Amino acid sequence: MPAEQETAQEALTFSDLGLSAKVLSAVVDAGYTQPTPIQAGAIPHAIAGKDVLGIAQTGTGKTASFVLPMLTRLERGRARARMPRTLILEPTRELAAQVEENFVKYGKNHRLNIALLIGGVSFDEQERKLERGADVLIATPGRLLDHFERGKLLLTGVDIFVIDEADRMLDMGFIPDIERICKLIPFTRQTLFFSATMPPEITKLTEQFLQAPVRVEVARPATTNTSITQRFVKCGSKPWAKRARLRELIDAEGDTLKNAIIFCNRKSEVATLFRSLVRHEYDAGALHGDMDQRARMAMLENFRKGKLKLLVASDVAARGLDIPDVSHVFNFDVPIHSEDYVHRIGRTGRAGRSGEAFTLVTKADRKYVDAIGKLIGQEPEWLDGDLSTLTHEDDAEEKPRGRTGRRGPKKEASDAGEDKGQGSDARKGRKEAIKAENTERKARHDDASAQGERRPRKQDHRREREEDNSIIGFGDDVPAFMKIGIKG
Ligand code: AMP
Repeated sequence: MPAEQETAQEALTFSDLGLSAKVLSAVVDAGYTQPTPIQAGAIPHAIAGKDVLGIAQTGTGKTASFVLPMLTRLERGRARARMPRTLILEPTRELAAQVEENFVKYGKNHRLNIALLIGGVSFDEQERKLERGADVLIATPGRLLDHFERGKLLLTGVDIFVIDEADRMLDMGFIPDIERICKLIPFTRQTLFFSATMPPEITKLTEQFLQAPVRVEVARPATTNTSITQRFVKCGSKPWAKRARLRELIDAEGDTLKNAIIFCNRKSEVATLFRSLVRHEYDAGALHGDMDQRARMAMLENFRKGKLKLLVASDVAARGLDIPDVSHVFNFDVPIHSEDYVHRIGRTGRAGRSGEAFTLVTKADRKYVDAIGKLIGQEPEWLDGDLSTLTHEDDAEEKPRGRTGRRGPKKEASDAGEDKGQGSDARKGRKEAIKAENTERKARHDDASAQGERRPRKQDHRREREEDNSIIGFGDDVPAFMKIGIKG
């Protein structure tokens, strides 16, 4: 059925949207005065019980666009044991945890039971929450199905079903799980469906599972967001050369660098770069799929609160995270999939602030940079000459003596691990962090079942690639939707 086109209305206030008094009071306390376009467009329909197809990405206020109406609607009725009243599916644990935070913030005047079902956390505690009766169940698809298969969960009481970040779910191979989950929930439910983009597979899913949805589409934050200065930086292809160049860039930014996310393509590179930065006495942390949920959340919290300056991350781990004020993004590796570039640099320059994005480029990355240029519709701006100006020294086999690129006051240290000045508490803390990370990695390796949101399934191409430390992106597995011809 064709979706009803709806124009988002920006001039509305929150009190025009039909939200309950309790929700309005929490919104006022959160300091929000005006709904964002996705909120203005979606909330009235969601409260009216209609299906909504929201085309919006993280950063547009879309979380509140489903959390606020859900809270309003949940004020009537009670949860029963093992029968959640609402279900929200999220592609990653971090996004699921962020949605939970939103329920806590906006639901402070409600007494709702919220259960979070994500991987990397024990089943027992989650089962206890289900047993008590959940008003709101927030889950990643694999862990949800695990609970279902253990017989601890019935989805027949779900009245409101939210699928968030649907295109990301597609990338991660979750669509078959979502189809299965959709069929476990009563047909009479209300479905709120969000996706940043609408590839054919997602359109098909909405046609199959939404009923006469109201379509609310908000503008994508411009890929060429003028508040982000994007620069490409040529560098040698050897890992040590890339790390040295990165340190040079960080040092050169001086005090203008408040905090930064540094993206790598591989999980193994995240760990190596994190260690290297710590050895060079940078204030760094890491976020990748090998860390357990608690460690990931703690790392993120420290970064958010400004206790940690540099966060080295993989795409999957960092996807959609709401970190409002990041001054810099560094792409240690050029993303293979050019859309990832847009997502990555979109971590900075948020909410009208200015941001800096630097991308390290080796000779082998030329075609990926060309693809990014095409996607963002502009020629790459090179910091100090394009790839044709690479010198032999840049691509030398041997690491030149003394070239660590340090300009700041920190001590020299090699990537091979020589560690000077071990007396300081900060250094000890970082060394312990590395040790803890190693122990944790070993434990996780030993117990693969505790690894992620879901068991390995055939369709998990992208996710498996990250777990295998191989390249994230499409690689040889171009998804079917990319091969479908686009008319016009
Ligand atoms: P989201 O797109 O849901 O990740 O939200 C992005 C950010 O916008 C979060 O930090 C929210 O707290 C914030 N936010 C949500 N709604 C509003 C609003 N109406 N006015 C200002 N900020 C908002």
